[in-house]
Amino acid sequence: MSTSYLQLINLNKKFGKFVVLNDISLTINKGELICFLGPSGCGKTTLLRIIAGLEKQSSGMIIQGDKNISFASPADRNYGIVFQSYALFPNLTIADNVAYGLVNRKYTKESIKKRVAELLQVVGLPDSGSKYPSQMSGGQQQRIALARALAASPDLLLLDEPLSALDATVRQHLRNEICNLQKQLGLTTIMVTHDQEEALSMADRVVVMNHGTIEQVGSPMEVYSNPASPFVADFIGKVNCLDAVVSDGNAFKCGDLTLQIPQQQHFNKGDKVKLYLRPEDTIIEPSSIDGHNHCTGRIKHIEFFGSNCIAELSVDHLANQSIQLQLSLNQVYDLKVKQGETLTFTVRPERIMVFPL
Ligand code: ATP
Repeated sequence: MSTSYLQLINLNKKFGKFVVLNDISLTINKGELICFLGPSGCGKTTLLRIIAGLEKQSSGMIIQGDKNISFASPADRNYGIVFQSYALFPNLTIADNVAYGLVNRKYTKESIKKRVAELLQVVGLPDSGSKYPSQMSGGQQQRIALARALAASPDLLLLDEPLSALDATVRQHLRNEICNLQKQLGLTTIMVTHDQEEALSMADRVVVMNHGTIEQVGSPMEVYSNPASPFVADFIGKVNCLDAVVSDGNAFKCGDLTLQIPQQQHFNKGDKVKLYLRPEDTIIEPSSIDGHNHCTGRIKHIEFFGSNCIAELSVDHLANQSIQLQLSLNQVYDLKVKQGETLTFTVRPERIMVFPL
């Protein structure tokens, strides 16, 4: 069973009159990796800085275990922090950078040396102690920043967009390394990111934020498959959004087409709704068929993503609304899918998401 490590209770933050965080409440469990995910300016970094004690909340409380730490100094919180910009001291060697947080904590020279060697080993750079930051690549510098954050055995690790300055390959490696290390150490970790792929691939739970509020908290699978709001559906992954009118509790008129879902919804006949549908939630049919949820469209263009493609279709029966479908590369070859050709598909009823307008 998960145990609560940190509780954020009704946190608010204003800069002057500008509300940056609005009534944030959240429990962070011991040993989990939690990601704050949201668009630029939604308040992720401010929330992380309040947790770190680098910024004061305007109101609300932070409870760690059974202690109220709402006004504790950053030093008293014993949290390790890694920023996007590495923030290494250019005039200090790598070993001195990693040791920096230990020097004022009454460690002996010998124990500092041992701890630094241990940490450089952990982050895969055992021979770099005598080098300077300028001699290291971006990915290596971020590993050093991670080693420095871990040096004083923090209770909580805070990562503020740690990977966003790195190129795609290095980012992918470091993602895996951070996850492995975090699980190995059982270290409760909060990471801020605006990159949905990063959050979905790394987090135990994702906190989706928008305009200073929490829209949804859930596992990566939950926030992707069962988004709580149109914002979450739209922000995480690709999604088609179709205008429709309720014709029955579980049937919706979208242009000439009736789209059915398995469960009754609490809408009235004639209500306007938005239907959300992921590009992968359709079945490509070899030939045209009649009935609900079946449709034919003309391919406007095809975007290639390696093993997958996204085909954008203009569909007459959907009142000319466009729809994006995901196809495997094999389907593209087998069905001879080409721009200008028609494609028939069935929308999976159980995957249609309905939101009021
Ligand atoms: P990004 O992904 O771009 O870093 P974010 O979600 O982390 O965005 P924050 O950095 O927390 O967002 O900023 C939230 C809002 O608060 C922004 O509109 C920002 O301009 C504002 N803000 C942040 N710090 C201050 C400050 N010290 N004074 C005034 N406004 C601030």
